[in-house]
Parts: sequence; structure tokens; C-alpha cells
Amino acid sequence: MDRSRSQPSRRRILKGAALAAVPYALLPATRAGARPLSTDYPPAEWQPASSSNCTTSSRPTSYSLDRVIIHVTQETYANTLAIFQNPQKKVSAHYVVRSADGHVAQCVREADVAWHAGNWDYNTHSIGIEHEGWVDKPAYFTDALYERSAKLTAAICDKYGIPKDRAHIIGHAEVPGTDHTDPGPNWDWVRYIKLVNFA
Ligand SMILES: [Zn+2]
Repeated sequence: MDRSRSQPSRRRILKGAALAAVPYALLPATRAGARPLSTDYPPAEWQPASSSNCTTSSRPTSYSLDRVIIHVTQETYANTLAIFQNPQKKVSAHYVVRSADGHVAQCVREADVAWHAGNWDYNTHSIGIEHEGWVDKPAYFTDALYERSAKLTAAICDKYGIPKDRAHIIGHAEVPGTDHTDPGPNWDWVRYIKLVNFA
């Protein structure tokens, strides 16, 4: 056999095999409808916000992480994800917790700065967690929402050495300069801080 002629044909076969393998590599995930998971918090589903709605960074090296900021969406869970994915909206949060079952979506990497507090200093040094609901509709604050959110906040506090108290786990309403009132008077802070400490 002439080796100089057999080698190119072998390369063609290998190249063809490699190309044919690509769809198989992609199929299982797409067929199952599985979404990629968060790398920061494994129980969360990765639902990335538009890169126009957050700032790439390298926290906690670029900015120390000192606070968790609690929000209420004033939107449905699905609409909140859609807003974060819309590059015109200029808003995002790291996580969104669904009311009915406490399901968690991550929209911005913890290393990056999400635009949720309306205050650059607080944005750079915090993780923002949105909760599906309305400040005047306490029924949205379900046991599942409190429990799954508290587990998430506990994991963030453990990771970055943030104290699990009200000085470091604050509401959006407590951010200097904000006109937002969330999470509002129906949010049970005593219960939440207790859950974070015993998560
Ligand atoms: Zn808010």
C-alpha cells in the first residue's frame, strides 16, 4: 500500500467522524430540555442576564463582598427573567427565587456586579437576591421561598465570610438614596435571619 496516498484518506475519515460526533454531543442536553446549572450555587438554574445589564468584574478580588441585598420583584418570576435578559432594561440581580416552590435562578455571576441596588457602592460590594412577589401581597412569601432563599443566602455568607445578621443582610429599602420600598413590611426578617443561621 502506498502510505503517502493512504494517509490523507484516513485523515478525511477521521475528520468526518469528528464532525458527525458533534450533534451527538449536543443532543442529550437539548433533548432532555436540561439547562446548564450555576457554577456559583449548584442548586440554581443558570438564566443569564444580558451583558448590557451588569458589569463584568472579578469579585471578591476587585471589590470585597460585604452584603446580601433582599428584593421583591413586583413582577412574576418569568417576567423578571425576561427583563434581565432585555438589554434595554439596565437592571439585573444575581439570583431570582420563585414564589411557588422556591426554585432559584442565577442571572449574574457572583464575580460580576449586578445592577439591583440603585447605588454603585452597594452594587459593587453586594449580592442581590430577587424574590417573586409584591410588597403588598404577603401570600407570595411562601415557606418554600423563605427556606430556599435562606439556604442561598447562608451559602453566600459562608463563602465570603459575611456575618449572618441584619447589618449585612439588608433590604433594598435600606440602601442609601433608594426610593424602593422592597421587601416591605410583610417580609418576616426575624424568621428569615433565623433560617439563614440554621440553614
Ligand atoms: Zn429591589
